[in-house]
Amino acid sequence: MKYISTRGDAPALSFEDVVLTGLANDGGLYLPETLPKFSAEEIASWRGLDYRELAFKIISPFVDGEIPDADLKKLIESAYSKFRHDAIAPLVQTGHNEFILELFQGPTLAFKDFALQFLGHLFDYVLKKRNQKVVVMGATSGDTGSAAIEGCRDCENIDIFILHPNKRVSDVQRRQMTTVLTDNVHNIALEGNFDDCQNMVKASFADQSFLPDGRQLVAVNSINWARIMAQIVYYFYAGLALGSPARPVSFSVPTGNFGDIFAGYLAKQMGLPIDQLIIATNSNDILHRCISNNDHSKQPLVHSISPSMDIMVSSNFERMLFDLYDRDGAAIKQLMEDFKSGEMSLAEGPLSKARELFSSYRLDDKETVDVIREVFENTEYLLDPHTAIGVQAARKQRKSKDVPMVCLATAHPAKFPEAVRQAGQAADPALPLHMRDLFDREERYTVLENDLAKVHAHMAANINA
Ligand SMILES: *Cc1c(COP(=O)(O)O)cnc(C)c1O
Repeated sequence: MKYISTRGDAPALSFEDVVLTGLANDGGLYLPETLPKFSAEEIASWRGLDYRELAFKIISPFVDGEIPDADLKKLIESAYSKFRHDAIAPLVQTGHNEFILELFQGPTLAFKDFALQFLGHLFDYVLKKRNQKVVVMGATSGDTGSAAIEGCRDCENIDIFILHPNKRVSDVQRRQMTTVLTDNVHNIALEGNFDDCQNMVKASFADQSFLPDGRQLVAVNSINWARIMAQIVYYFYAGLALGSPARPVSFSVPTGNFGDIFAGYLAKQMGLPIDQLIIATNSNDILHRCISNNDHSKQPLVHSISPSMDIMVSSNFERMLFDLYDRDGAAIKQLMEDFKSGEMSLAEGPLSKARELFSSYRLDDKETVDVIREVFENTEYLLDPHTAIGVQAARKQRKSKDVPMVCLATAHPAKFPEAVRQAGQAADPALPLHMRDLFDREERYTVLENDLAKVHAHMAANINA
């Protein structure tokens, strides 16, 4: 299987190379040249498989023999060994034919664990084989940093440096990162805001001469192909549990960078009978505006109570555009050139295709809080603010009561106590048992000035030999 860039001008890569690559060198994002397709008979034959067995069926055609089957099975086994629930992605019912897919049973309580637990093990496997060591560097405003750290904590060939804005992430989020004490994990609290952290990371990727000889930086951000790939699995898992392929299913997805819902689109292309795919956004609604009004324009960032969806531009949407424009790399290159102005509109054909594939809905903070309250009153099930947006979008956009609607629960409510309090809960939601002692654990992190040379000196001095 070869991987190609959405802008058509970068070399095609093998699976292992694409795992270690971020952006393509033409500025595009990598995608498989062809998608594996599964027949209804084949999907039906997977009904009895547990999550890991199903993951192997879905991931192996993308790996296409580059990793021997036995090794790939072991990687998948380790990736999902730290999930607290035997089902890995359990379903809970919240209404007539309405289900919540709990994607927060991983070590950091957010769905990003599905991709990053797998990616950490995959990195380590490929690096060992190549006898290579790398430095993972990333900036975080919350969820991604802790999920990346948990994914890489036991990887021998990786040093991971995660920058967060000092004093500007929640205590739970900071402690999830800083209480991981393995010696390849390096937390930096930068004296600045999230943009300063991101700029620091960008500048470091652009000039890596501060690294020891033979080391390179690797990104774990949401454009990594392997992250998307790992997320396809739970769409099939939920579909099979609810009667697919004999019965269609719909999904509502709290959306930021479009990685999660793009995996749902791929599941559909691969043969899962998905009826509706609903893009649910907070006030940062570029995708909702694009689908409803053909208005794909950058607007100022709004800080919402669903912070993991606070984006101005959805980085993975380019992958979707590539398919909407019949995989015409030159057209995407032009479109992205246009978008440098801060806005673009889709041509008629691609727009109508997008509208056939997706519905969309947007909620502001007040509406989000109202949904948390209402669902709790009716079911005693407590939603986190991201999931609440998905649930309400599903209720507003649903076309058929016959088709099961699956709302992806992307985070555990204990991660966002402020929103839950606003929804009228007297007590903060309890952390799951394995994290109850989070506030007693030892923390380790370094506060650094917002100064490139100082950050680089710190990194160079702390990379393990
Ligand atoms: C990252 C994240 C999202 C958005 O997912 P995308 O793949 O970026 O669309 C939604 N909810 C939570 C809790 C997240 O951490």
